Amino acid sequence: MPEEKKTVFIGMGSNLGDRKANIEKALALVNLIKGVKLLRVSSIYETEPQGGPPQGNFLNGVFEVKTARSPFKLLDELQKIEKHLGRKRRVKNGPRTIDLDILTFADRKVNAKNLKIPHPRMHKREFVLRGIRELRGLK
Ligand code: AMP
Repeated sequence: MPEEKKTVFIGMGSNLGDRKANIEKALALVNLIKGVKLLRVSSIYETEPQGGPPQGNFLNGVFEVKTARSPFKLLDELQKIEKHLGRKRRVKNGPRTIDLDILTFADRKVNAKNLKIPHPRMHKREFVLRGIRELRGLK
């Protein structure tokens, strides 16, 4: 029996290059992942970097997908997109072309070394909470 489709919220951020274009490209690539359907995208917010070296402001947003793929497979595909769009991981918390974080995956909890769901820092980021609230249709 095919696995049931789950609702997943993903956070995205960019503070390098053409930030808006990076976000649009990432969303287009997400929609091309086999077995993943992009449903809705939140408003895009400008935020100041938290920690790391001095760097430019981010554009951030949240989007919702539906998928029957596993959280690990989804992470793998999102990391391919980050790589493809030229994200360099040289500086910890440094500037990035695109950052994609799985925030929630239906009601699943994951506590693996390379994947924590719900995302441990999601409640600290105002844009994440605002974005999810917006997509869920709450005030
Ligand atoms: P960052 O540089 O902050 O984007 O962190 C990337 C690392 O976080 C990757 O190596 C992932 O394996 C790990 N990670 C842990 N939990 C998550 C999550 N929920 N979504 C995305 N990456 C995650």
